[in-house]
Amino acid sequence: MKQALSVASECAPLVKTGGLADVAGALPGAMEEQGWHLRTLLPGYPTVMSALKKAKEVRTEDDLMGGPARLLAAKASGLDLLVLDAPHLFERRGALYLGADGKDWPDNPERYAALSWMAAAIAVDGVEGWQPDLLHLHDWQAALAPLYQREMSDGKRVPSLLTVHNIAFHGMASVTKLKDLRLPQWGFHPDAFEYYGQINALKAGLVFADKLSTVSPTYARELLRPEFGMGLDGVLRNRRADLVGILNGIDETIWNPAADPQIVAFTTPDKKAKNRAHLIEEFGLTPSDGPLAIVVSRLTEQKGLDLLLEALPAFIERGGQLALLGSGEPELEAAWRAAAEAMPQVAVRIGYNEALSHRMMAGGDAVIVPSRFEPCGLTQLYGLRYGTIPVVAMTGGLADTVIRANEAALLADVATGFQFFPITADELIGAMMRLCDAYEDRPGWERMQRRAMAHPVGWSTSAAHYAALYESLTSQP
Ligand code: ADP
Repeated sequence: MKQALSVASECAPLVKTGGLADVAGALPGAMEEQGWHLRTLLPGYPTVMSALKKAKEVRTEDDLMGGPARLLAAKASGLDLLVLDAPHLFERRGALYLGADGKDWPDNPERYAALSWMAAAIAVDGVEGWQPDLLHLHDWQAALAPLYQREMSDGKRVPSLLTVHNIAFHGMASVTKLKDLRLPQWGFHPDAFEYYGQINALKAGLVFADKLSTVSPTYARELLRPEFGMGLDGVLRNRRADLVGILNGIDETIWNPAADPQIVAFTTPDKKAKNRAHLIEEFGLTPSDGPLAIVVSRLTEQKGLDLLLEALPAFIERGGQLALLGSGEPELEAAWRAAAEAMPQVAVRIGYNEALSHRMMAGGDAVIVPSRFEPCGLTQLYGLRYGTIPVVAMTGGLADTVIRANEAALLADVATGFQFFPITADELIGAMMRLCDAYEDRPGWERMQRRAMAHPVGWSTSAAHYAALYESLTSQP
């Protein structure tokens, strides 16, 4: 079996802030079926360290970006892990990337440079005789690895694939850190990792990785445009021949309405009713005949939930109700709390709650995802699987995974949800009105739910695409 090293800053179920963790956690299982064994290199955060049993030290460093470090090999949660135990970088309380003050940890560049450096070292030196045939790097936190590898070895290099899960995060660092980050002076150039006078870790990956991918075909095209490329669209246009979009799947064992311990299990949409009633009760809403919409999301500008606030009055007018679970920017949290205060048909839980998110997917009628941009998006996929009809902005992976209910699609009985464009409050209101209309046609609604539940959202197709990409990288002379 061929071997790959997957390198990520988070990985479900061990440590997660967003969709990247879900992908990093699910990919090894999916790729195993394609004939690829993945080991996953992760930072040794406290939650990761405490999950390790029988960890074996396989490499030590006296000084890795400011302190001693060890590489541990261990198995946990079905994953074959290599863990970078570097207490000076990862043993701390607080959020993964942010300190208690809500700002990035000032040493984030060092933390993830260390992770990337270790990935390169594993590629060049191997660990205990194991060497990967391929590096699969995720986002800026792993993006310096191809450059480090180039610096470490003149000889044969392990090919690398960089997957962009979100172009918004670049991993910027001051040029004064060049030496501390073990970066070569020659690379401080606009054709390499310099970005307007600073170091840009993601750009280094976009320039030096052998192939690039992102998490949906539409986002792969969008990234080439200035509106979406966040300043890196030019770099990506230069590499467009090496860039592909492969949709994320979801873990169908964790998201399985027929065997989900959080819910009253169901296999057909007519059996969702109990979950719906429980959810209404759990959120303290009043039972109603209108559609129950849900949102599970980070509360950030990207997610467009300010647009949804604007759309609420029209939706409620039509008998709709909404339950939101999310956390993030304080202003958005406050605005949603205020909306719940003002409107009895709106209920809000601020926080992160995996179990509740399952109950919401099971009990909701529709899931709203009005993102301004969305590389892939996972909650619309959970919605499909649970017969909770997605209402999504037509962008990125949202455009690729939902078959929109226009006249033709409704006539042909192929629609699985609603899309709107341009991404404005008015267009969102339009989509939510179409949702309300469709909800009134109960037989038609149930047919749409059945189609949604039958829509493939697992990993098999995408894993085959990744396998083809892995093969193309490793079969090159
Ligand atoms: P992103 O990675 O941009 O946050 P995705 O839709 O790709 O967006 O992935 C988000 C993941 O995080 C999903 O698995 C979603 O269910 C989960 N999630 C987001 N917010 C919460 C929350 N407050 N509670 C529970 N799960 C959440």
